[in-house]
Amino acid sequence: MKSKKGFAIGLDMDGVIIDNTDTKIRFAKRMGFTLKPEQTHAELIEKALTPEVLSELRTHLYFNPVTALQAKLVPGSLDGLHQLKKSGQRFYLISKRKYPIIARELLKKHKLWGKYFDEKNAFFVRETEEKDYHIGRLGIGLYLDDQPSTLDKLVNAKHKILFDRFNCFVKSKHRRVGSWEEFIKMVKEHGVVNF
Ligand SMILES: [Mg+2]
Repeated sequence: MKSKKGFAIGLDMDGVIIDNTDTKIRFAKRMGFTLKPEQTHAELIEKALTPEVLSELRTHLYFNPVTALQAKLVPGSLDGLHQLKKSGQRFYLISKRKYPIIARELLKKHKLWGKYFDEKNAFFVRETEEKDYHIGRLGIGLYLDDQPSTLDKLVNAKHKILFDRFNCFVKSKHRRVGSWEEFIKMVKEHGVVNF
């Protein structure tokens, strides 16, 4: 895996590492809505739920420790992080979370905190513009995020990759990967610098 000094990979958390799909489907069902996995995407879910239900869901997902800590890992993310670390690739987590205590607890629960992430390479921000600030500051050459609208706003990342595991955005202008396996393969084949 090519990794020139100064270049790093930036990773979003929700929808890339942390998987809230089942929690969203279960909560929606209790409220009388049936969601398919692809409808749970952060940019599509508002089409499927009422604003009131969505607001309550977000509270449960990000502020209620009981519900929030039920989130799983995105398939392949653990192995992907292992491969990045093993290769010596510098990587960072930059997540938009208003309540980072729960986010850290979630990473601890899944044994990622301390092994792959810590205070030095994990940053929790309130606005997308702050993501971009860290991307510039940390010398991140490639950023992986599951939201096209977020990637659109990042001007400091040279390479922006859309993590699109449910094939929601086939017409996106951003380069897409459907899985962690595909992402790692892409990084290995082309390196962060040269693709
Ligand atoms: Mg996300």
